[in-house]
Amino acid sequence: MASLDDARFELRTAGYCVLCDALVERRFDGTCPAGHVAEAVQGRRLLADDEPVPTMSRFNLGAFLMPPIWGPANGAWAGAIFLPIWLFADSVIVSAARRGGMGLWIGAAFVIAATLAFEYFFARRANGVAYRRVMHKMSAEEFARQQRIWAIVSIPFALALIGWGLYFDIVLWPVLKG
Ligand SMILES: [Zn+2]
Repeated sequence: MASLDDARFELRTAGYCVLCDALVERRFDGTCPAGHVAEAVQGRRLLADDEPVPTMSRFNLGAFLMPPIWGPANGAWAGAIFLPIWLFADSVIVSAARRGGMGLWIGAAFVIAATLAFEYFFARRANGVAYRRVMHKMSAEEFARQQRIWAIVSIPFALALIGWGLYFDIVLWPVLKG
């Protein structure tokens, strides 16, 4: 008769390998099939005998468009860092618009490009980072459904934020300044 330990090792489990940046099926010693150490494979979801390893979308629109809100709400606290980054980018754009000059505009374009690139990087890692926390209780399909809602909400949010920024910088600020 098989011992309890044997039975446990026969269970198939999936996890998120931070080095592969993908969902993988653990080998029996807990390591990643690509050879990464067990510590790199995070989260745990039991797989049925013939169940394939779930896959995830490579990009999370909610994480891209509103990282300071999506991040903390999904356990990816690094997203909060985009709030000061956005304020900094806004101040660079505003000073270019107020004072003009090629140098300031090149600086503003660089800051915008770097911010978007950083957001893109964050959004590419977002699904794995968020799903590893909840994969024990949520299928990849359920997670994808939940993230579609985030994506739908993030579009009007981003438009409203940009609209408010433009309104504040162009219309309101000159009035407030007199
Ligand atoms: Zn791996």
